[in-house]
Amino acid sequence: MSRATSLQQLTASSSFDIVIIGGGATGLGCALDAVLRGYTTLLIEQYDFAKGTSSRSTKLVHGGVRYLQQGNIKLVREALRERAFLLRNAPHLTSVQPFVVPVFSWWEKLYYGVGLNIYDLLAGKLSLGRTRVLSKKETIAYLPAINPAKLAGGILYFDGQFDDSRLCTDLAVTAAKQGAIIINYCKATGFCKKDGKITGVNGVDTLTGKEFTVTAKAVINATGVFTDAVMQMDDAAKHDLVTPSQGIHLVVNASLFPGTTAMMIPKTDDGRVLFAVPWHHKMVLGTTDTPIATAIIEPKPLEEEIDFILKHINRYGTAHIQRSDVKSVYAGLRPLVKTSGAKGTALLSRDHTLVIAASGLVTITGGKWTTYRKMAEDAVSNALFVSKQAKRACSTGKFTIGNPTERAGMIAGMIQLDASLAEPIHGGYPYQKAEILYAVRYEMALTAEDILARRTRLLFLDARAAIASAPIVAAMMATELGKDLEWEEAQVTTFINLAQQYLLT
Ligand SMILES: Cc1cc2nc3c(=O)[nH]c(=O)nc-3n(C[C@H](O)[C@H](O)[C@H](O)COP(=O)(O)OP(=O)(O)OC[C@H]3O[C@@H](n4cnc5c(N)ncnc54)[C@H](O)[C@@H]3O)c2cc1C
Repeated sequence: MSRATSLQQLTASSSFDIVIIGGGATGLGCALDAVLRGYTTLLIEQYDFAKGTSSRSTKLVHGGVRYLQQGNIKLVREALRERAFLLRNAPHLTSVQPFVVPVFSWWEKLYYGVGLNIYDLLAGKLSLGRTRVLSKKETIAYLPAINPAKLAGGILYFDGQFDDSRLCTDLAVTAAKQGAIIINYCKATGFCKKDGKITGVNGVDTLTGKEFTVTAKAVINATGVFTDAVMQMDDAAKHDLVTPSQGIHLVVNASLFPGTTAMMIPKTDDGRVLFAVPWHHKMVLGTTDTPIATAIIEPKPLEEEIDFILKHINRYGTAHIQRSDVKSVYAGLRPLVKTSGAKGTALLSRDHTLVIAASGLVTITGGKWTTYRKMAEDAVSNALFVSKQAKRACSTGKFTIGNPTERAGMIAGMIQLDASLAEPIHGGYPYQKAEILYAVRYEMALTAEDILARRTRLLFLDARAAIASAPIVAAMMATELGKDLEWEEAQVTTFINLAQQYLLT
């Protein structure tokens, strides 16, 4: 996948069956779905793939135990089915993750024991492991850092876990291999219309400022928390479909919360869910739920959110985790849907929401990472219906995403030619210098941030290590991309400014 080639293709063919705006999980899922059905497909993303919410999740592939508490069995079943698709279609980026819910009374043991057994039963043949009630001793064996005071036992259950932005990269690469044109750093700026119907999209290459226009039979708006802004480009009336809700995570060394089991607290004293999840040999602690007035691409963790997580995790654990233990803090915005505010027809008011505007613009939002494939299927099917294109069946349910063997082989090949590329980008982390070149050549990485935040996950795992790595990454990128020293230095400065926000001390 090369940006230069994609831009050339864009110039050569400016007419598409489906144009998708937004390169997060939902948009990239739509691109893969559409191209596999045989439609000419273009996806444009204003920043990098997964720069928005899709790189900032809790990293869970889950059915949503919470919906079960709300009695929404259908939704849980659907998410459990999607969980199975994702684990099967991207086995190199997903894994089965055991969780323990610690309980502090016989009543909690009964309540969560029954609930999580129902969760497992709903998965049926797609179950990832049998739910089991644990004694106090067994709970401590699974969660060695749990505070034993008042502990009555625990419930063991299983869900999935994944690397979110790597999966976006692989979705982009896979869709591009199938023939979709996928371009990052291109922003949709407006629509072309005839008789009130959308006939095309105006965009700008944000790296060069070059504007372009493409014609489109159908357009999908998959822009997460920016949904309303894109709807407004279509129809100047005020749109109020999505409310951003911020969630933050703290990443600490796994030694502070040892073991390979995740902990889930279904209800903290203010009614939130709290997770401690092992991820890339670190522990991810989160999350929060804070309404935010305006969507921004790089949301900032709030002091009260940081205090909330530290206070609650220390209530359940014995490690007394402090600010100085935090290797990285990251914030993301959930696109929460207010269906009553929809302008147009809200066709699907389940977990995700689909709105078809009078112009034909299909907006897909809400939902969760786990259900991105189903969201994409619904969006593409509706886009075809609205634009009166012949409908062909969706095939993403059984389609492998990414090619880890090919990637590993090509990285090994680079190392064979130049042994220095085997060196780690930063000691203590498994990322090799060859991955920088691979990401630039084949994964459309264009900035030091693309490499350090989303092709590797160093910024999310250890912001200081990422800052220390920025000069190496920028230097290698400059050589590979033919950029000058000024560019290289600007990359380092820009990245360090951003990464400061991921540090607590
Ligand atoms: C704190 C938190 C934890 C979560 N944890 C989980 C979890 O563990 N498991 C799970 O299943 N789900 C989880 N979710 C939900 C999940 O992350 C989101 O539902 C999902 O990532 C949304 O993807 P998206 O593609 O719709 O939006 P995004 O990822 O935000 O993508 C939208 C993209 O559109 C682009 N865009 C906007 N305007 C334009 C324009 N004009 N032109 C071009 N591009 C544009 C943006 O730059 C952005 O990249 C979590 C969410 C949060 C906030």
